[in-house]
Amino acid sequence: MTKIQYHPTDDTLSRYAAGELDPASCIMLSAHLEFCSQCRQKVTDYENIQARQMMQNAPEPLSDELTHMLSGILKQTPVKPVDPECQTVTAETHTQFLKVNHKSFRLPRALKRHESHIGPWSRLPGNIKRANVTTGGQSKMNFIYMDCNSSLPQHTHQGSEITLVLAGEFHDEHATYYPGDFVLQNDHHIHTPKTSAEQDCLCLTLLDAPLRFTSGLATLLNPFSPIFFR
Ligand SMILES: [Zn+2]
Repeated sequence: MTKIQYHPTDDTLSRYAAGELDPASCIMLSAHLEFCSQCRQKVTDYENIQARQMMQNAPEPLSDELTHMLSGILKQTPVKPVDPECQTVTAETHTQFLKVNHKSFRLPRALKRHESHIGPWSRLPGNIKRANVTTGGQSKMNFIYMDCNSSLPQHTHQGSEITLVLAGEFHDEHATYYPGDFVLQNDHHIHTPKTSAEQDCLCLTLLDAPLRFTSGLATLLNPFSPIFFR
């Protein structure tokens, strides 16, 4: 049974279905959809609604015959977004793995074509490893691996931070997050992500501005916060 409690907003899912998101956000959404049948269904519903709206807004009235043919096609085939990054997740037989800390983790299918743009792993303070994913946009995508018993200093965000849990779990002051959870944080949120002594965690994150550290000695890290934003 899935424990997913955090999902993208309906507005974001609708924009994904319409192919309106930037490539990096599309990857984050696609990777969440691999875990979440509830959001996959919503995306299919939005695609069908948008396709019907396109038909209704067609400049020339369609003949009865053509309308009948189009509605037959719509019943059979979900409409795919135009952007190749936004393609609905499909079943793949070939699986790729990400290796860190002598462990192998299944790479989200959404990142299959980006394998050559991942890494290498580098160390961050607090027993955390990070591997950058080059996506070409302004925002920064990273795999973050938190070993057992590790923590990131308390921080807030100058922009937004999306964290998608891929394996294991982590917690902060607000909740515990499990695989598939899509956690959106912004400058209203202050948190201290941690792992327990028994469980490590692999996440995919997307940041659109450097973090800002908020407590104790960690505030001394602020001049270096761009190292968390690469
Ligand atoms: Zn979902």
